[in-house]
Amino acid sequence: MKVVIARTAGFCKGVRDAIEITMEAIQHREKGEDICTFGPLIHNRQVLAMLEKKGVVDENRIERCAGKKVVIRAHGIPPYSRQKLHEQGATLLDATCKRVARVHAAIKRNARHGYHTIIVGDADHAEVIGLLGYTENRGAVINRPEQLSELPSDWENVLLVAQTTQNEEVFREIEEVFLKKYPKGIVKNTICDSTQERQAEVRQLCSGVQAMVIVGGLHSGNTLRLAEVARACRIPTFHVETESELDAGVMAHYSCVGVSAGASTPNWIIRDIVEFLEAITPEAGTKFRWKHTLERLSYGNFYVALATALLAQIVEALTDFAGSAAFSLMAAGYAFAMHSLNIYLDQDSTELNDPGRAAFYHKWRPVFMFSSAVSLATALVLAYRTGFANFIGMILLIFMGLLYGVKLFMHARWEKFPFKLKDIPTSKTFLVPMAWAGVCILPYIAGTYAPWRVAYAGWVIFLLSLVRTTLRDLLAIQGDRLVGKETLVVLVGEKRTEFFTVGVILALVITALCGPVAGVSTGFSFFLIVPALIYLFFLKIGSTRKLREAPLYDVLIEIVLIVAGLSAIAWNLTH
Ligand code: SF4
Repeated sequence: MKVVIARTAGFCKGVRDAIEITMEAIQHREKGEDICTFGPLIHNRQVLAMLEKKGVVDENRIERCAGKKVVIRAHGIPPYSRQKLHEQGATLLDATCKRVARVHAAIKRNARHGYHTIIVGDADHAEVIGLLGYTENRGAVINRPEQLSELPSDWENVLLVAQTTQNEEVFREIEEVFLKKYPKGIVKNTICDSTQERQAEVRQLCSGVQAMVIVGGLHSGNTLRLAEVARACRIPTFHVETESELDAGVMAHYSCVGVSAGASTPNWIIRDIVEFLEAITPEAGTKFRWKHTLERLSYGNFYVALATALLAQIVEALTDFAGSAAFSLMAAGYAFAMHSLNIYLDQDSTELNDPGRAAFYHKWRPVFMFSSAVSLATALVLAYRTGFANFIGMILLIFMGLLYGVKLFMHARWEKFPFKLKDIPTSKTFLVPMAWAGVCILPYIAGTYAPWRVAYAGWVIFLLSLVRTTLRDLLAIQGDRLVGKETLVVLVGEKRTEFFTVGVILALVITALCGPVAGVSTGFSFFLIVPALIYLFFLKIGSTRKLREAPLYDVLIEIVLIVAGLSAIAWNLTH
């Protein structure tokens, strides 16, 4: 089945900011401080469960917020609730979306001059309740044009606004009738541009597909509206929260389906649905899910092990030192074990970024633990056989790898210092490439190997792995942001990380060009310009159509390293 994904699907700016504010509060929580959200932060069960696990509960009664730090969600609240929360001694963290706050300001300004406010929206929606609070008791809520006839005709000054996630067309219809009834009335189309774009894109998508799948909370207003827009285009529409609600037999009747999602739908849910749909054949049923199979290999850390084994071959090709298959096995054993063990120490982020992956690890936990122990033992034995200094080096690398997710200082006196290496900002981005480079050059550190050649090869492996890691981090940003600041992209944002990645790719190209000229590398160095340019291309795809490429993109990033490593083997065999 062909699946067309809406470019605008997924978290909107307001939701992203609200999550960011909440995560900041969790990160800087003082001892004994209670944090809660006033109403559910977003309409997504997994995210809410994660917040609850971190001790952030969703309260909807003001008296239960007394003395707590309270996050005001993106929908905003009425001024009287704000006042009452202050009276209860709550500290407010205002995550009201700027666009919603602008509607508050418009209503307040006009209400002060005696205006009545008509709000196009759902009367029981939290945002509308918040908007009504600013109308000075001169507000009315409608969602159909005919409801205007029920309102008094003698209102002199009337303002018409909309809930930010309303249906654009319905608003236009209401506006037309409104201006006939209140010719002097003021109309402010306060539907947010993110909502408008989402709806416009669904309308456009509907003309090119046979059915639409709208992903998002069944109680999420803006998602319901998207489904409404799709149905209005007279196209079969399926509003679902997860792929399990889709029937493969029913979907098999369509050969081309569009997918869009509400403003609080995380990327991983959209990704699962896209993968499910893509695997459906028109004959009713699912074909072999090759992407699924590739993903399972990735879950098993197969690519990580293979990529590091091949990076060791790249070191050999760059330095022209006599290597050995044992060096590759040692690197693979180390990387496999460290990645597998750290996944268990970093479960929050895995659960949020990729619940399928988390379930896979949970199911195969004993196998992972056993194979990690065997891999570590193998890496240690092989390191020992290459020399005692290398053995010590391997122990240090293992120590560093394990400390990544484990508390460094247990004593309360050290509380203010980072407890784990992973707590150091951007540690995830830089430590993995450092460890990979370290394990690949480890066999050449002691002995009579030319140090400049070893250092050069280590630097190249570091740069290659760094590009790979930042590209993967760009994909995993939602989950990483939710569990705390750890990667570069979470710390400095997507745009800056993209610039940084371009810089690293450039450094890699320059290094690859200079190595042979400076006499610290073989001509194989020139070949590495190709993977560098492919990564540059991926970066471009990732920034423009990240979602579309996501199911395979992850795997492709690893495959580039693997192909570079295979070319190194070919080089080593022929030189
Ligand atoms: S849909 Fe628009 S108004 Fe609502 S939270 Fe998102 S960005 Fe803000």
